[in-house]
Amino acid sequence: MAIRFKQKCFRCKKNYVLASRRQRWIVCYDCQKAEMKGEIKDPKMKKMFDIPEEFYKENLFLRDIKIKYIKWGELTENQINAFKKVVKDLKNAQSSKTSK
Ligand SMILES: [Zn+2]
Repeated sequence: MAIRFKQKCFRCKKNYVLASRRQRWIVCYDCQKAEMKGEIKDPKMKKMFDIPEEFYKENLFLRDIKIKYIKWGELTENQINAFKKVVKDLKNAQSSKTSK
């Protein structure tokens, strides 16, 4: 897993966000919430983005991808695969937590 560090949100300069070094534009969940509200028409994409809200809260990358899709209406194969991988990892982490 990539190293993550706490960084202040670029927009509100109030909330801290967990981000990896590769992420340049760091914005907190509260600031991005409105941008994630767009309608998703493609049923396949709708299903992909239908994940627990906590995942979006704790993961900047997932928020970014969803906002990109809402904005542009499309994603590259790599972005889709990366999104699915992160969701899978989060789900695995969650189930290992609850089984303890
Ligand atoms: Zn913010």
